[in-house]
Amino acid sequence: MLKSFFMDYAFFEGKIVPVEEAKISIMTNSFHYGTAVFEGIRAYWNEEEEQLYLLFAKAHYHRLIENARCIFMEIPYTVDQLVEYTKEILIKSEIKEDVYIRPIAYFKDLKLTPKLMDYTPEVAIYLYRFGRYLDTSKGIRAKVSSWRRNEDNSIPSRWKVAGAYVNSALAKTEALMAGYDEAILLNSHGYVAEGSGENIFIIKNGKAITPSLNEHILEGITRNTVITLLKKELVVDVEERPIARSELYTADEVFLTGTAAEITPVVEIDNRKIGNGEIGEITKQLQDIYFRAVRGKIPRYKNWLTPVYDK
Ligand code: PMP
Repeated sequence: MLKSFFMDYAFFEGKIVPVEEAKISIMTNSFHYGTAVFEGIRAYWNEEEEQLYLLFAKAHYHRLIENARCIFMEIPYTVDQLVEYTKEILIKSEIKEDVYIRPIAYFKDLKLTPKLMDYTPEVAIYLYRFGRYLDTSKGIRAKVSSWRRNEDNSIPSRWKVAGAYVNSALAKTEALMAGYDEAILLNSHGYVAEGSGENIFIIKNGKAITPSLNEHILEGITRNTVITLLKKELVVDVEERPIARSELYTADEVFLTGTAAEITPVVEIDNRKIGNGEIGEITKQLQDIYFRAVRGKIPRYKNWLTPVYDK
């Protein structure tokens, strides 16, 4: 039953094993305190080339290792080794379709104390089948959350640390229960931070604006990519600065970015239409470039990609 979502093989305790065998104890320290770091990576299938492309694999594993260090966790693998293990599980699972990859690094010790030193790190990687995370073709309806983004001096949003995602889960749940697709969280200063699992951009008078990296947000890999595409491909200025909640409602376009969310247009926020309530022109053009580039269809962006199969 799980097989429709999870693919055959996982990387677990240094080996490639059938995913059913990749299990941890209920006493695992990180399970109790959320002291794990994780990543979300996508691989895209290119039908013509019969090739599977990992998107920004090295950048994701670099962030994983860096975030782990922040919680005193030394991951016992290099970026290159983690990319190789990922390729191996994709090849062994014979993946010939789009797939989401979830690496997680955690403390495996069966110990009770919530602390970060003298514990043993472990890395697991598994594969998950999902197409679109949010509706990128029609756009989504979002709600400004009553929950504030956790801030840098409590649990830094800059780190993809498991425990911080209670904040995302609270906001996402509130939005879904109220009939919306996604939550937009403000930071503790009342400015727009990000979605529950996405960075946010607004377009106003032909200019793009996104919260700066000091606004208690994750430093999204897609965010960086989109900033480059906006500047280089669409010749759109990008301003990184605090965004007031009220600016969301008067924006010409709003979109979310993330590995899972890709480029998701937001067509309504708090029951107010954004622009004319349809996907905006700049968002559309960005999507067009992004969706072709991630599948290896734009030669100048093939450096984003790592081919999985030897040719
Ligand atoms: N913000 C949050 C809170 C996220 O969970 C994610 C997903 N990793 C993002 C932003 C987007 O980051 P990226 O583009 O690196 O996937």
